[in-house]
Amino acid sequence: MFCKNCGSEVSEKAAVCVKCGVATGVGVIPGVPVAGAKSRVAYILLGIFLGGFGIHNFYAGYTGKGVAQLLITLFGFWLVLPLFAVGIWVLVEIITVKADSQGVPFT
Ligand SMILES: [Zn+2]
Repeated sequence: MFCKNCGSEVSEKAAVCVKCGVATGVGVIPGVPVAGAKSRVAYILLGIFLGGFGIHNFYAGYTGKGVAQLLITLFGFWLVLPLFAVGIWVLVEIITVKADSQGVPFT
């Protein structure tokens, strides 16, 4: 079979493409933890306590979103609106995000 992300040939049994590191979906059974899967509880706790710094996104591999939240907090800390916006953003993420950036579900 071929990787849906980069198109390179991957083994039928491969859970992750060796070329780009994206999960192929093989072996990812809903409700069954995958090796290397991250903890949803840890993601939520990081979001609650350090969400303004994007730490929960760094944890789950969403580096771009984490950097954006970190920058908004660092440069917008003296304004109420940006912090409020980041707070809502983080809240929505910890409710809706159930897998890391590779598509591997949280345990
Ligand atoms: Zn690939």
